[in-house]
Amino acid sequence: MTSGTEQASPQPRKRLFVSLMGVTCLIMVATIFLAWWIPNRGLANIHPNLPHIVGVIMVILSGAAMLGTGLLVLTTAIGKDLVMTRFMRLVVIKFLLPVIELVGRVIGIDKDRIRQSFVAMNNSLVLSQRMKAPPERILVLLPHCIQFAECEIKVTGDINKCVQCGRCTIKELVDIGVAYAVDISVATGGTLARKVIVEKQPKLVLAVACERDLTAGIKDCYPLPVIGILNERPLGPCFNTIVDIQKIEAALRLVIHHSECQTKTAP
Ligand code: SF4
Repeated sequence: MTSGTEQASPQPRKRLFVSLMGVTCLIMVATIFLAWWIPNRGLANIHPNLPHIVGVIMVILSGAAMLGTGLLVLTTAIGKDLVMTRFMRLVVIKFLLPVIELVGRVIGIDKDRIRQSFVAMNNSLVLSQRMKAPPERILVLLPHCIQFAECEIKVTGDINKCVQCGRCTIKELVDIGVAYAVDISVATGGTLARKVIVEKQPKLVLAVACERDLTAGIKDCYPLPVIGILNERPLGPCFNTIVDIQKIEAALRLVIHHSECQTKTAP
Protein backbone atom coordinates (compact mmCIF):
# COMPACT_ATOMS: atom_id res chain seq x y z
CA MET A 1 0.00 0.00 0.00
CA THR A 2 1.17 3.50 -0.62
CA SER A 3 0.95 6.42 1.69
CA GLY A 4 -1.95 8.84 1.41
CA THR A 5 0.34 11.42 -0.11
CA GLU A 6 1.36 8.94 -2.79
CA GLN A 7 -2.22 8.31 -3.77
CA ALA A 8 -3.54 11.77 -3.29
CA SER A 9 -0.71 13.69 -4.88
CA PRO A 10 1.48 13.31 -7.91
CA GLN A 11 4.09 11.05 -6.34
CA PRO A 12 5.74 7.70 -7.35
CA ARG A 13 3.73 4.46 -7.54
CA LYS A 14 2.61 5.51 -11.00
CA ARG A 15 6.14 4.49 -12.10
CA LEU A 16 4.93 1.10 -13.30
CA PHE A 17 2.15 2.66 -15.35
CA VAL A 18 4.59 5.21 -16.81
CA SER A 19 7.06 2.43 -17.75
CA LEU A 20 4.29 0.43 -19.39
CA MET A 21 3.19 3.57 -21.21
CA GLY A 22 6.72 3.82 -22.65
CA VAL A 23 6.62 0.18 -23.77
CA THR A 24 3.16 0.71 -25.30
CA CYS A 25 4.41 3.81 -27.11
CA LEU A 26 7.33 1.84 -28.61
CA ILE A 27 4.98 -0.95 -29.69
CA MET A 28 2.69 1.62 -31.31
CA VAL A 29 5.56 3.28 -33.18
CA ALA A 30 6.84 -0.14 -34.38
CA THR A 31 3.31 -1.08 -35.50
CA ILE A 32 2.90 2.22 -37.33
CA PHE A 33 6.27 1.70 -39.06
CA LEU A 34 5.36 -1.84 -40.12
CA ALA A 35 1.95 -0.67 -41.30
CA TRP A 36 3.77 1.72 -43.61
CA TRP A 37 6.71 -0.47 -44.60
CA ILE A 38 4.94 -3.72 -45.49
CA PRO A 39 2.48 -2.37 -48.08
CA ASN A 40 5.00 0.24 -49.21
CA ARG A 41 5.79 -1.46 -52.51
CA GLY A 42 2.14 -2.11 -53.22
CA LEU A 43 1.43 1.60 -52.71
CA ALA A 44 4.10 2.52 -55.27
CA ASN A 45 2.19 0.51 -57.83
CA ILE A 46 -0.85 2.74 -57.31
CA HIS A 47 1.17 6.02 -57.47
CA PRO A 48 4.94 6.57 -57.19
CA ASN A 49 4.46 9.30 -54.53
CA LEU A 50 2.01 7.34 -52.39
CA PRO A 51 4.65 5.60 -50.20
CA HIS A 52 6.08 9.02 -49.27
CA ILE A 53 2.68 10.51 -48.48
CA VAL A 54 1.69 7.53 -46.32
CA GLY A 55 5.19 7.63 -44.77
CA VAL A 56 4.70 11.27 -43.72
CA ILE A 57 1.29 10.40 -42.18
CA MET A 58 2.88 7.52 -40.25
CA VAL A 59 5.71 9.79 -39.02
CA ILE A 60 3.11 12.30 -37.80
CA LEU A 61 1.18 9.53 -35.98
CA SER A 62 4.40 8.21 -34.39
CA GLY A 63 5.36 11.74 -33.38
CA ALA A 64 1.91 12.27 -31.81
CA ALA A 65 2.23 9.00 -29.85
CA MET A 66 5.68 9.95 -28.54
CA LEU A 67 4.70 13.54 -27.84
CA GLY A 68 1.56 12.42 -25.99
CA THR A 69 3.52 9.95 -23.87
CA GLY A 70 6.16 12.59 -23.10
CA LEU A 71 3.50 15.15 -22.18
CA LEU A 72 1.75 12.69 -19.88
CA VAL A 73 4.97 11.83 -18.10
CA LEU A 74 5.87 15.51 -17.76
CA THR A 75 2.41 16.51 -16.51
CA THR A 76 2.42 13.89 -13.76
CA ALA A 77 6.09 14.51 -12.92
CA ILE A 78 5.70 18.24 -12.32
CA GLY A 79 2.05 18.07 -11.24
CA LYS A 80 0.89 20.97 -13.40
CA ASP A 81 -1.80 21.26 -16.02
CA LEU A 82 0.54 21.85 -18.98
CA VAL A 83 -1.80 21.34 -21.89
CA MET A 84 -4.89 19.22 -22.61
CA THR A 85 -4.75 17.36 -19.28
CA ARG A 86 -8.46 16.57 -19.45
CA PHE A 87 -8.02 15.08 -22.91
CA MET A 88 -4.99 13.12 -21.70
CA ARG A 89 -7.08 11.72 -18.85
CA LEU A 90 -9.54 10.51 -21.48
CA VAL A 91 -6.71 8.90 -23.50
CA VAL A 92 -5.27 7.19 -20.40
CA ILE A 93 -8.65 5.94 -19.14
CA LYS A 94 -10.29 4.88 -22.37
CA PHE A 95 -7.36 3.91 -24.57
CA LEU A 96 -4.08 3.43 -22.71
CA LEU A 97 -5.40 1.43 -19.75
CA PRO A 98 -6.82 -1.49 -21.79
CA VAL A 99 -3.69 -1.57 -24.00
CA ILE A 100 -1.40 -1.42 -20.97
CA GLU A 101 -3.38 -4.15 -19.20
CA LEU A 102 -2.88 -6.29 -22.31
CA VAL A 103 0.87 -5.52 -22.46
CA GLY A 104 1.12 -6.24 -18.72
CA ARG A 105 -0.64 -9.59 -19.17
CA VAL A 106 1.71 -10.56 -22.01
CA ILE A 107 4.82 -9.75 -19.97
CA GLY A 108 3.36 -11.26 -16.79
CA ILE A 109 2.73 -8.24 -14.56
CA ASP A 110 0.05 -8.68 -11.91
CA LYS A 111 -3.22 -7.00 -12.92
CA ASP A 112 -3.71 -5.41 -9.50
CA ARG A 113 -0.25 -3.82 -9.60
CA ILE A 114 -1.14 -2.21 -12.92
CA ARG A 115 -4.48 -1.04 -11.52
CA GLN A 116 -2.83 0.47 -8.44
CA SER A 117 -0.41 2.28 -10.70
CA PHE A 118 -3.25 3.43 -12.94
CA VAL A 119 -5.10 4.86 -9.93
CA ALA A 120 -1.96 6.75 -8.89
CA MET A 121 -1.54 8.05 -12.45
CA ASN A 122 -5.20 9.10 -12.59
CA ASN A 123 -4.84 10.89 -9.24
CA SER A 124 -1.81 12.75 -10.57
CA LEU A 125 -3.68 13.92 -13.62
CA VAL A 126 -6.74 15.01 -11.62
CA LEU A 127 -4.59 16.87 -9.11
CA SER A 128 -2.44 18.44 -11.80
CA GLN A 129 -5.57 20.22 -12.98
CA ARG A 130 -5.60 21.96 -9.58
CA MET A 131 -9.29 21.21 -9.40
CA LYS A 132 -11.05 22.67 -6.36
CA ALA A 133 -14.65 22.38 -5.31
CA PRO A 134 -16.76 23.68 -2.44
CA PRO A 135 -17.33 20.98 0.21
CA GLU A 136 -20.96 20.46 -0.76
CA ARG A 137 -19.87 19.50 -4.30
CA ILE A 138 -17.40 16.87 -3.08
CA LEU A 139 -18.63 13.34 -2.56
CA VAL A 140 -16.72 10.76 -0.55
CA LEU A 141 -17.79 7.30 -1.68
CA LEU A 142 -17.05 4.33 0.54
CA PRO A 143 -17.41 0.61 -0.04
CA HIS A 144 -19.88 -1.31 2.10
CA CYS A 145 -17.14 -3.64 3.37
CA ILE A 146 -15.61 -0.80 5.35
CA GLN A 147 -18.40 -1.17 7.92
CA PHE A 148 -17.91 -3.72 10.70
CA ALA A 149 -19.61 -6.85 9.36
CA GLU A 150 -21.52 -7.52 12.57
CA CYS A 151 -22.78 -3.99 13.09
CA GLU A 152 -26.54 -4.07 13.37
CA ILE A 153 -26.96 -0.54 11.98
CA LYS A 154 -27.41 -0.03 8.25
CA VAL A 155 -25.33 2.96 7.22
CA THR A 156 -25.86 2.53 3.48
CA GLY A 157 -27.59 5.67 2.33
CA ASP A 158 -27.00 7.58 5.55
CA ILE A 159 -23.67 7.32 7.29
CA ASN A 160 -24.96 9.49 10.14
CA LYS A 161 -27.00 6.58 11.45
CA CYS A 162 -23.71 5.26 12.83
CA VAL A 163 -23.73 5.52 16.64
CA GLN A 164 -19.94 5.75 16.62
CA CYS A 165 -19.14 2.76 18.75
CA GLY A 166 -15.65 2.73 17.23
CA ARG A 167 -15.57 -0.88 16.01
CA CYS A 168 -14.88 0.32 12.45
CA THR A 169 -13.54 3.30 10.51
CA ILE A 170 -17.05 4.64 9.87
CA LYS A 171 -16.82 6.43 13.22
CA GLU A 172 -13.84 8.55 12.09
CA LEU A 173 -15.40 9.06 8.68
CA VAL A 174 -18.54 10.53 10.26
CA ASP A 175 -16.27 12.97 12.11
CA ILE A 176 -14.52 13.88 8.86
CA GLY A 177 -17.84 14.45 7.13
CA VAL A 178 -18.83 16.90 9.86
CA ALA A 179 -15.42 18.58 10.12
CA TYR A 180 -15.06 19.15 6.38
CA ALA A 181 -18.79 19.51 5.65
CA VAL A 182 -18.57 16.97 2.82
CA ASP A 183 -21.10 14.39 1.77
CA ILE A 184 -20.09 10.82 2.60
CA SER A 185 -21.98 7.85 1.19
CA VAL A 186 -21.59 4.12 1.52
CA ALA A 187 -22.40 2.16 -1.62
CA THR A 188 -22.93 -1.59 -1.84
CA GLY A 189 -21.79 -1.79 -5.44
CA GLY A 190 -21.22 -0.03 -8.74
CA THR A 191 -24.92 0.40 -9.49
CA LEU A 192 -25.67 2.10 -6.19
CA ALA A 193 -22.50 4.20 -6.49
CA ARG A 194 -23.67 5.45 -9.90
CA LYS A 195 -27.12 6.20 -8.45
CA VAL A 196 -25.60 8.22 -5.60
CA ILE A 197 -23.46 10.19 -8.08
CA VAL A 198 -26.48 10.95 -10.26
CA GLU A 199 -28.46 12.11 -7.20
CA LYS A 200 -25.76 14.22 -5.57
CA GLN A 201 -24.22 15.67 -8.74
CA PRO A 202 -20.76 16.17 -7.25
CA LYS A 203 -18.02 18.14 -8.97
CA LEU A 204 -15.39 15.76 -7.68
CA VAL A 205 -15.49 12.30 -6.15
CA LEU A 206 -13.11 10.90 -3.61
CA ALA A 207 -13.58 7.15 -3.81
CA VAL A 208 -12.32 4.46 -1.45
CA ALA A 209 -12.24 0.90 -2.79
CA CYS A 210 -10.01 -1.94 -3.97
CA GLU A 211 -7.92 -1.61 -7.14
CA ARG A 212 -10.51 -3.36 -9.29
CA ASP A 213 -13.49 -1.26 -8.16
CA LEU A 214 -11.53 1.98 -8.26
CA THR A 215 -10.37 1.30 -11.81
CA ALA A 216 -13.93 0.47 -12.91
CA GLY A 217 -15.33 3.51 -11.07
CA ILE A 218 -12.79 5.91 -12.57
CA LYS A 219 -13.61 4.57 -16.05
CA ASP A 220 -17.38 4.74 -15.50
CA CYS A 221 -17.34 8.23 -14.05
CA TYR A 222 -15.24 9.94 -16.72
CA PRO A 223 -15.32 12.95 -17.34
CA LEU A 224 -16.20 13.42 -13.65
CA PRO A 225 -12.85 13.61 -11.83
CA VAL A 226 -12.32 10.83 -9.29
CA ILE A 227 -9.49 10.61 -6.79
CA GLY A 228 -8.99 7.01 -5.77
CA ILE A 229 -7.83 5.84 -2.37
CA LEU A 230 -7.10 2.16 -1.91
CA ASN A 231 -8.62 0.43 1.06
CA GLU A 232 -6.67 -1.95 3.26
CA ARG A 233 -7.79 -5.57 3.58
CA PRO A 234 -6.13 -7.17 6.59
CA LEU A 235 -8.84 -9.86 6.73
CA GLY A 236 -9.03 -10.47 2.99
CA PRO A 237 -11.16 -8.89 0.30
CA CYS A 238 -14.60 -7.39 0.94
CA PHE A 239 -14.60 -8.05 4.68
CA ASN A 240 -14.04 -5.52 7.48
CA THR A 241 -11.74 -3.43 5.31
CA ILE A 242 -10.22 -0.21 6.57
CA VAL A 243 -9.01 3.06 5.16
CA ASP A 244 -6.32 5.37 6.42
CA ILE A 245 -8.22 8.46 7.54
CA GLN A 246 -5.13 10.61 6.99
CA LYS A 247 -5.25 9.75 3.29
CA ILE A 248 -8.83 11.02 3.10
CA GLU A 249 -7.97 14.20 4.96
CA ALA A 250 -4.88 14.82 2.80
CA ALA A 251 -6.93 14.44 -0.37
CA LEU A 252 -9.75 16.66 0.96
CA ARG A 253 -7.30 19.41 1.86
CA LEU A 254 -6.03 19.34 -1.72
CA VAL A 255 -9.41 19.65 -3.37
CA ILE A 256 -11.65 21.65 -1.05
CA HIS A 257 -12.17 25.21 -2.13
CA HIS A 258 -10.62 27.03 0.82
CA SER A 259 -12.84 30.09 0.83
CA GLU A 260 -15.86 27.87 1.32
CA CYS A 261 -14.18 25.24 3.46
CA GLN A 262 -15.97 24.79 6.74
CA THR A 263 -13.40 22.46 8.22
CA LYS A 264 -12.49 22.78 11.86
CA THR A 265 -9.17 21.07 11.39
CA ALA A 266 -7.79 22.21 8.06
CA PRO A 267 -5.33 25.13 8.17
S1 SF4 B 1 -18.60 2.65 14.19
FE1 SF4 B 1 -20.70 2.88 13.44
S2 SF4 B 1 -20.81 1.61 11.63
FE2 SF4 B 1 -18.97 1.00 12.73
S3 SF4 B 1 -19.64 -0.71 13.99
FE3 SF4 B 1 -19.87 1.13 15.24
S4 SF4 B 1 -21.97 1.83 14.90
FE4 SF4 B 1 -21.50 0.33 13.31
